[in-house]
Amino acid sequence: MISRIDLRGPLPGNLRDVLPRAELDVETALEKVRPICEKVRHQGAEGVRELTHRFDGFDLPTARVPLEALKKALETLDPKVRAALEEAIRRTRLVHRDQRRTDVTTTVVPGGTVTERWIPVDRVGLYAPGGLAVYPSSVIMNVVPAQEAGVPSMAVASPPQKPDGLPHPTILAACALLGVDEVYAVGGAQSVAMFAYGTEDCPAASMVTGPGNIWVAAAKRLLKGRIGIDSEAGPTEIAILADATADPVHVAADLISQAEHDTLAAAVLVTDSAELADAVEVELKAQVARTKHTERITEALAGRQSGIVLVSSIDDGIKVVDAYAAEHLEIQTADAAQVASRIRNAGAVFVGAHAPVSLGDYMAGSNHVLPTGGCACHSSGLSVQTFLKGVHVVDYSREALAEAAPLVCALADAEDLPGHGAAIRARFDWEIPS
Ligand code: NAD
Repeated sequence: MISRIDLRGPLPGNLRDVLPRAELDVETALEKVRPICEKVRHQGAEGVRELTHRFDGFDLPTARVPLEALKKALETLDPKVRAALEEAIRRTRLVHRDQRRTDVTTTVVPGGTVTERWIPVDRVGLYAPGGLAVYPSSVIMNVVPAQEAGVPSMAVASPPQKPDGLPHPTILAACALLGVDEVYAVGGAQSVAMFAYGTEDCPAASMVTGPGNIWVAAAKRLLKGRIGIDSEAGPTEIAILADATADPVHVAADLISQAEHDTLAAAVLVTDSAELADAVEVELKAQVARTKHTERITEALAGRQSGIVLVSSIDDGIKVVDAYAAEHLEIQTADAAQVASRIRNAGAVFVGAHAPVSLGDYMAGSNHVLPTGGCACHSSGLSVQTFLKGVHVVDYSREALAEAAPLVCALADAEDLPGHGAAIRARFDWEIPS
């Protein structure tokens, strides 16, 4: 059901190359999404309509969701789900409010200051997936940090669903709870292109964020630059670093909980205990048979992206999970907090027996939109910072400029850019020597 990689003994130098990774990666998917994005670029709303028909099977006269549909979704929302969404919003807001930044002014010399101003992006497109599963939780994870950053204009896109071609009612209800009224029934790569290029239905945005499948992640990589993106938050990954003290029932349940997202989802156990590995395999067999999405989970666990990695020690395990740079990393070892403090590369770290990834998916307060495919070695999860641009505001008096002038001229001459020095000297009647 799940393959094993035996790395006991000295670790190989090319660790990243020997660890599990999906066969279909974002790079491979790029060529498939290029014509989708080009179609939206050249054909606008009509292109989106055709792609929605091709990939989602709906003929929608317009992608824009009417306000009455949002209102109705909130009115008919199951009270238990509403209470859970409201608490998730409260917790997520608590964490993200603390991420807000204040402008900082540094006095460099008397009369010379640099202020770093944090300015929110003007308009953002936020993606909430809705293919194999629907993700109202992703509406919260996108909207709350954008709101806390002060983004003035935001729109949510999510794939159309049966029977009426609107996004799932719980998605719409989550938008209504958060006060978002611009929502589009568009999924996949075409939604990313819609936000990047704009259409007759939907004005272009400066940035698109949110999780999605391989096609969404590939469109983000392709259109990055034309539009700002958060991380490539593609098919879910869980890595668990565990020793003999871990409970195999918990480890197996947590691997399954993330394999449930997608046949391309990755579930990786890294352990120094062959006994734990055996016990987890037994548990996986038993638990997978009892879950709702047995087929999807079995395919994800059997895929090249999943596996059990045996290492000689937890020290080596730390090296392995750092090289893997998982979206989600659970530490289930003795002294888990100490091990967690040594981790450098992961989208989010979950410490000990009582912090499973599914808590983070909904209710921890942390953000669940996280980098995948090894990108956690250079990228962060979604946060208030994602939606802010730092702008340096430079303010110097005549005296402060005079003091800097000979230094600027010296460096300008050294770079053979005398026009730079001249721009300073002109302000002092050319009295400063070149
Ligand atoms: P989705 O909304 O991401 O994708 C569905 C859309 O994909 C459809 O609307 C369709 O337009 C498009 N599509 C389907 N097949 C296609 C094809 N062959 N070619 C081009 N486009 C196609 O929903 P999903 O499929 O359920 O995937 C959600 C993903 O989000 C999962 O992979 C899950 O693991 C991931 N996820 C990631 C994070 C993260 O932060 N990294 C968080 C939550 C979920």
